[in-house]
Amino acid sequence: MLPRFRSKSVRKIDRKGLGKKAKFRYVRKTGRGACCSICGAVLAGAKSPSRIFGGALCPECSSYTIKLAGKIKGGNMKLEDVDVGRREFVRCLVGR
Ligand SMILES: [Zn+2]
Repeated sequence: MLPRFRSKSVRKIDRKGLGKKAKFRYVRKTGRGACCSICGAVLAGAKSPSRIFGGALCPECSSYTIKLAGKIKGGNMKLEDVDVGRREFVRCLVGR
């Protein structure tokens, strides 16, 4: 095997050769696209994120986060009640 195919970022794909010959093809893995850091949904159009949490959260998660921040600012909720994965994003909004 050539050294360039020993990398972890290259995967081996089985292909049939002529007759019963086994043959392989090496394909370089592509990177993971932009996805929501809370729910993992794929973010569409995240090339120039200009809105709040653009390129980091999906629309559903960001709207829920903004609502939670409003509740905390209004005094109806505490920051400790927010789940841990979302807490840092809410803290960003509350601290403004
Ligand atoms: Zn999400």
